[in-house]
Amino acid sequence: MIQVTQPFLPPVEEFQAYVKQIWDRNWLTNNGPLVNELELKLKERLGADHLLYLNNGTIALQIAIKALDLKGEIITTPFSYVATTSSIVWEGCTPVFADIDPSTLNIDPSSIEAAITGNTSAIIATHTYGNPCDIDAIQAIADRHKLKVIYDAAHCFGTLYKGKSVYLYGDVSTASFHATKLFHTIEGGAVFTKDPELLKKMAYMRNFGHNGPEDFAYVGINGKNSEFHAAMGLVNLKYVDANAESRENQFHRYNIWMKHLRVQNIILAKETKHNYSYYPIIFESEEAVLKAVEMLNAHLIYPRRYFYPSLNNLNYVTKGETPVCDSIAPRVLCLPMYYNLSMEEIDLICRLLLRIQNN
Ligand SMILES: *Cc1c(COP(=O)(O)O)cnc(C)c1O
Repeated sequence: MIQVTQPFLPPVEEFQAYVKQIWDRNWLTNNGPLVNELELKLKERLGADHLLYLNNGTIALQIAIKALDLKGEIITTPFSYVATTSSIVWEGCTPVFADIDPSTLNIDPSSIEAAITGNTSAIIATHTYGNPCDIDAIQAIADRHKLKVIYDAAHCFGTLYKGKSVYLYGDVSTASFHATKLFHTIEGGAVFTKDPELLKKMAYMRNFGHNGPEDFAYVGINGKNSEFHAAMGLVNLKYVDANAESRENQFHRYNIWMKHLRVQNIILAKETKHNYSYYPIIFESEEAVLKAVEMLNAHLIYPRRYFYPSLNNLNYVTKGETPVCDSIAPRVLCLPMYYNLSMEEIDLICRLLLRIQNN
């Protein structure tokens, strides 16, 4: 069986060595030494001065919205994972959908501009598949209209834009370290910001607002992560480069086959070091996708329709006008990619796609 992705598991002994430390200290959670060590290592590795390790990427988005005190309408992309939109609604704001660029499937800056009203407070954009948005255009719009920018950078571990981690752009960027992501801590996430005061506020919010045992500075939530999760992160950090390299090789292997298939690839951003963490293809029709999925499933291969249905179809939002997304989302398929997927398996998947196409 070939799934769209598989969590990476490091050698169990390395994890067990950390578990032994946790047992010896009897310090399981609440900003423990392994959480601190992971935060330090992530700062070093990503060149980030200010980050907080959290229990998942959804809480990261919610804390970012809360800490920036966003109100009213937030312009966002319909082409992302559901957490991007649900976080906005959960925090009492209204998502307003801009359309996407047909070549990158990232939010289209000109569509953002058209969606701005007197009630707009922010833009929340996803660097879809780890491929950076048009960051410069989005920042220019935000500056012109005094809007905050949050990037949902859940897919972006290792991505560099203009020589620095893509997590360092926007007022806040959020990461997910969920088991299915390129770098994971089983469950986990992070917020990044340039603003030390904002970081302090988010640190309070991560820990119920506690300012000492009997004082509360802000309304908070439980956004903490445990020593066990941090331990998985510390071990996985040692393997993340090797895992990224195997995905890059897989990416190039898929590319070789693409010229024979009637599908379209996304255009990768310039001035970027990519992390190649997903392999999306766009078919000519939804019918072609459904046919491909059915045939691959019959061979126990399970690609996923990331992201379908698009988020403006959720039953708790206003749909808006997004003709590009409406046309493309039903035609996208993400092909399998994970650290030990072999070249032979990729060849098999692509041979099947070719056979389906020519049937
Ligand atoms: C995975 C993901 C999230 C959610 O992250 P969790 O850590 O699972 O809460 C949010 N946005 C995008 C784009 C994602 O892919």
